[in-house]
Formats: sequence, C-alpha cells, structure tokens
Amino acid sequence: MTKALLNIDYTYDFVADDGALTCGKPGQALEANIVAVTEKFVKEGAYTVFAVDVHDHDDSFHPETKLFPPHNIRGTKGRDLYGRLMETYQKNQDQENVYYMDKTRYSAFAGTDLEIKLRERHIQEVHLVGVCTDICILHTAIDAYNKGFQIVVYRDAVASFSQAGHEWALGHFEQTLGATVKEFGGDQP
Ligand code: ZN
Repeated sequence: MTKALLNIDYTYDFVADDGALTCGKPGQALEANIVAVTEKFVKEGAYTVFAVDVHDHDDSFHPETKLFPPHNIRGTKGRDLYGRLMETYQKNQDQENVYYMDKTRYSAFAGTDLEIKLRERHIQEVHLVGVCTDICILHTAIDAYNKGFQIVVYRDAVASFSQAGHEWALGHFEQTLGATVKEFGGDQP
C-alpha cells in the first residue's frame, strides 16, 4: 500500500518549555522517534509531509483566537520545527518526496491542497506523528478517515498537553477510525 507520513505541528511553540501552547515534556520526549520516523520515510522515498500551523497577528476572524493564546505566528521562532527535526527537514527539504505546507486549522486537510497531493501520488495510507494527539492529530485523522485513507498512528511519536485527551484519542483512532496504533520502535530494524 502506498503510504505517506504526515508530520504535524512539531514546532517550538507546541513543544519547547517556553512555547506559547506547549505540550512540554511529553512533547519533548518524542524528538528522537519523530526524527527517526521522518528519516525513515524520506530515505524510503515515501511522501513526507510537514504540515505546520500558521497564524497571523490579530486575526480576529480565526476561531482559535478565542480559544488559545497566540501561537505559531508567521515569521516567528515559535513556528520553527522543534529540536533536531529542524535539521532533518533542512537536510532533506530539496528531496522531491518532501513537502512542507502551511495549515490554518487543526486538520491538515482543512483549506489545503494535501488531499490532491496524496491522491495524485495514489497514496492510500497516512502515518501520523506530532502534536497534539487529541487536537491536530485527531482532526487530521478524522478527515483522513472520511476521505477513505487507511491510518497508522505511532503512539510513541504523538503527545498532548492533556494526558487524558492523549489516551482517549489513541482509543478513538483504533476503535472508531479503524486506525492501526503502534510503537514506532517496533518498526526499527
Ligand atoms: Zn493554531
């Protein structure tokens, strides 16, 4: 089955101790796995997508403005990929199977060209890593499900600032979206 990696929102604001909307330690603990899974997909020639939240200053029309503090503002350090994932991206950004895209909603499919990028490559299965398990990963997974993609979630490469939300979402992926939820560690040679 042709697969793609969707690497979602692993940025400074969502992960670093002083990030604007951070998952903190559980997010930081994913760094090695996220880098490893990304390197693996890039090396295998699989389509590797970095889907990264972007907001503008003073966007009063955006629904998140009422819900969350400002985060991932265009042109700020908060929107940089976190830790070694930045190097992984920079090293591979010219590969034709690597695609960096902005998104403005929780789901990487909302208002973006992600679906046509996946369809034109005949991709049937999306593998999800990043943060937050119960927000952007969840909404992306729901859209993927509704569009007929198979879903794989690496439980050791997703995290949330809410442990309860994280656990609930992992169950939902498996039981309601028919996803395969597994450890990335198990895929290592
Ligand atoms: Zn946002």
